[in-house]
Amino acid sequence: MRRISIFGATGSIGQNTIDLIGREASSYEVVALTGGSNIRQLANDAKRLGAKVAVTAFNEKLDDLREALAGSPVEAAAGPAALIEAAARPADWVMSAIVGSAGLAPGIEVLRQGGTLALANKETLVCAGQLVLDTAARHGARLLPVDSEHSAVFQALVGEDMNAVERIIITASGGAFRDWPVESLASATVEQASSHPNWDMGQRITIDSASMFNKALELIETKEFFGIDPSRIEVVVHPESIVHALVGFCDGAVMAHLGAPDMRHAIGYALHWPERQDLPVPRLDLAKLGQLRFRDPDPDRYPALRLAREVMERGGLSGAVFNAAKERALDHFIGRRIGFLDMTDAVAAVLDRFEGADGLIDASLTLDNVRKTDHLARQWVDDAVLRRAG
Ligand code: NDP
Repeated sequence: MRRISIFGATGSIGQNTIDLIGREASSYEVVALTGGSNIRQLANDAKRLGAKVAVTAFNEKLDDLREALAGSPVEAAAGPAALIEAAARPADWVMSAIVGSAGLAPGIEVLRQGGTLALANKETLVCAGQLVLDTAARHGARLLPVDSEHSAVFQALVGEDMNAVERIIITASGGAFRDWPVESLASATVEQASSHPNWDMGQRITIDSASMFNKALELIETKEFFGIDPSRIEVVVHPESIVHALVGFCDGAVMAHLGAPDMRHAIGYALHWPERQDLPVPRLDLAKLGQLRFRDPDPDRYPALRLAREVMERGGLSGAVFNAAKERALDHFIGRRIGFLDMTDAVAAVLDRFEGADGLIDASLTLDNVRKTDHLARQWVDDAVLRRAG
């Protein structure tokens, strides 16, 4: 029996993970399932899978969770400290699928326990890449990629020497507005940005795909995960989302990873790694697809990519600033307090302010400093939004 825990179990990645383990439930012992506001889903899954503990991230939801679990042997817990406590429980494989920088601390705790962390939460590497890698190395822990592009690169690198890698190319669908006139983007609504042409994902990552902030985070994630110079990472728009990433080698060969846009492939690969096992994902019919198209991303449509390159250049805590500012700007967009393009302007302004903030730019990359910087960057976005409103 493999002991597994799922952080962010009630979300899109979490539910896909539960779908896979539910198909062979007798092979797994579920240690912890965590969620946020969706108490009914969390409690139902925890009871059905016989989890030891169910944790909601929000203290005020504890009574609801207790009530939903009444009569079952599943323990109920709530709050950030309970998430860390759940992460410290021994498990053989842990899915990190909380959305946003809230996923960082539980992920680090799993690594401190020397566990295997399947990383969907890209923010973990964006906010604290070197810290995360150092923690994993120090405790003999393993990180496995779950983002489809990074899983694709990881698979293309099996048996290869990193020294022979010339470049990594990650693909982007282009999101909801890939064919809109750039002039119309300013008036894009939350509903329009929340509809992805190819992937069925959580709302926040879907909007981040429309703005390409998602790809911007993935650029940074690629640099951190594979230790490759940013100048050798490319992004190409590929509207079909069939090729997830490509690796170019020094002899000119390019290995591409193809598959239907279904996250259960990347989750399943990480779950069964280093083996491959049957997965319930659609099979490709290339003749039916007919063509696969690729084009360079338009820098005017997707300014987030330029910001990500600046962040990679700055290093240190700038990834944490970038991510927190992006998350907060997204909150304001979803709350209809700012427009679609204002998100990039807000993030760019916060990065500039960070550049000028004494003592911050060179502060060391510790979990405490990431937390402080995260908090500050969110405040700066709020300041900017309030100023606009006033
Ligand atoms: P969802 O929004 O669907 O789910 C997020 C999960 O995190 C839910 O379980 C949610 O609980 C929980 N959560 C929300 N806020 C907090 C918080 N403050 N503290 C702790 N837990 C919280 O997200 P996705 O599944 O789409 O994405 C999860 C992660 O995986 C993200 O980092 C995303 O970038 C990454 N990813 C997602 C892909 C996808 O296909 N969806 C693809 C590749 C990467 P509740 O819903 O109960 O409130």
